[in-house]
Amino acid sequence: MERVKKPEWLKIKLGGGKGYSHTQKLIHDNSLNTICVSGKCPNLGHCWSMGTATFMILGDICTRSCKFCATKSGRPLPLDESEIGKVADSIQKMNLRYCVITSVDRDDLADQGANYWARMINEVKRRNPNTKLEVLIPDFDAKTELLDIVFEAKPDVLSHNMETVRRLTAQIRSRARYDRSLEVQKYAASKGFFTKSGIMLGLGETEEEVIELMHDLRDSGCQLLTIGQYLQPTLKHIPVKEYIHPDQFAKYKTLGLEMGFKFVESGPLVRSSYMAETTFNQIIQ
Ligand code: SF4
Ligand code: SF4
Repeated sequence: MERVKKPEWLKIKLGGGKGYSHTQKLIHDNSLNTICVSGKCPNLGHCWSMGTATFMILGDICTRSCKFCATKSGRPLPLDESEIGKVADSIQKMNLRYCVITSVDRDDLADQGANYWARMINEVKRRNPNTKLEVLIPDFDAKTELLDIVFEAKPDVLSHNMETVRRLTAQIRSRARYDRSLEVQKYAASKGFFTKSGIMLGLGETEEEVIELMHDLRDSGCQLLTIGQYLQPTLKHIPVKEYIHPDQFAKYKTLGLEMGFKFVESGPLVRSSYMAETTFNQIIQ
């Protein structure tokens, strides 16, 4: 298949300087996983230079294998309880006022990692009482008894990504279901959380399908939305069908705000955890 040429507007800023080295050293010394590295995020240079990162917990091997995702998949290693203290400690050392944590999916565990998530949130909050915490969680098969375990630990923002439009979900995401992800959104909103979701464009979706997805999210109570360009992490992953022009991203932002989202971050290099603190600060004003 012929590959689509990368456009000018996808120039990626490289990182450097003291902030970058400090973040890199802390993550390396504590053997922590980040989605910044695992997901080959194009913003790594920028975010790490600014002293921020998104921690990925429950190991670095996912039981699912989505076609767009660079995270390793396969049989995960046993849970490492020491990760909880290391993440909480790193957040303290990085002096983060706002922190995003995500995880691999652990369908191999009876509780899919819900209790570990709760222990992590509680410890991060205990050690960092002034830090706001955003959690980007798996779908937990939309089982309310598992979601409740995470929700009871009371993170500040509850995020779950839709990733793509209804038609492409089965092809792009492994095991996930479009309606199940909406159920997670709906349930989190019903419990009073600030709810957030992220999607990628450039996988072959139409404008009508993106707008339908945005309406579905709003109908499920979702308040914050991030929209970014899919970038193929390796040749083994699904190829980019189209590079969406920044003007189109701007159009989705306008439409989203008209639909009632409290905040929409939309642009080629936007990722769900990109500038998350700024997003949060704007909605609580
Ligand atoms: Fe990490 Fe998120 Fe920044 Fe990407 S956008 S480098 S995942 S913090
Ligand atoms: Fe990646 Fe899919 Fe696993 Fe999430 S569930 S870490 S997107 S493979």
